[in-house]
Amino acid sequence: MKFNRIKKIFGYMYELHRRNFKLYFKPTRNPLHDPVETNSIHWVGHATVVINLFNKVIVTDPVTSMNLGQIKRLIKPSLNLSTINIDYILLSHGHMDHMNYSTLIKINKSAIVIAPKNLKLPLKVLGFKNIIILTHNQTYIDSYINIKALKASHDGRRYPWGAKAESNSYIIKRKSKKIFFAGDTAYTNVYKDLVADVAIMPVGCYKPDEFQDLHCTPQQSFKMFKMTGAKIMIPIHYKTYILAQDKDEVTRDTLKRINDGSIKIIDVGQTVKLEDSK
Ligand SMILES: [Zn+2]
Ligand SMILES: [Zn+2]
Repeated sequence: MKFNRIKKIFGYMYELHRRNFKLYFKPTRNPLHDPVETNSIHWVGHATVVINLFNKVIVTDPVTSMNLGQIKRLIKPSLNLSTINIDYILLSHGHMDHMNYSTLIKINKSAIVIAPKNLKLPLKVLGFKNIIILTHNQTYIDSYINIKALKASHDGRRYPWGAKAESNSYIIKRKSKKIFFAGDTAYTNVYKDLVADVAIMPVGCYKPDEFQDLHCTPQQSFKMFKMTGAKIMIPIHYKTYILAQDKDEVTRDTLKRINDGSIKIIDVGQTVKLEDSK
């Protein structure tokens, strides 16, 4: 039994490195470069999204590195985050594909960083002045924005930040706009009736099946999105790094198949304009 498990892990690691190794012989793809506009959502790549709500700029899980260790980026980031004025940075959890030191160090330090438990120290060391720690169901409010953390179903531990590190999803509200950012999550039913304009949902890293304890499949992601009551789903957390055994083409085809018109399948570098509220 134990031997089979070890064999499986080795097989998995081999396959992951084989797919990543092949990338070293291919040029990194160029993304689209749609501009970030007032009231829009722009996908920089992986879980990094620039959300503009009435000209306040929120960036989720900023990662623009060309490599995560030995894992090479498939496509360049669409934006250099150090050239834009960021008001809020939302960190969903501490995993390397979400909290990236080399990206964070280049970002403007006056931004307000919102993060889950146990990540205050590394953010302080990186030079951030305004760090807000939100545990599940806590809300940050200032005169511009309202950001609530929800419990993602994802083990957010990262060495050495301890076993108590949590994973957050966020609901971001400013004036008439409401955006849901799920972060990383397995299937869960906590995202009920959020009635957001847009739900930004993860759809990658679900193979082998054991990974579904941490990451939802595209079908599960769609089901959770429907639960939120949001109008539009934007799929992310794929097309950028090979971190698991699922293939982006299969994920994209699945999304196309289940799409009832509410999934906006975009490419890295694309901007989705938010509709004017009536
Ligand atoms: Zn993660
Ligand atoms: Zn992730």
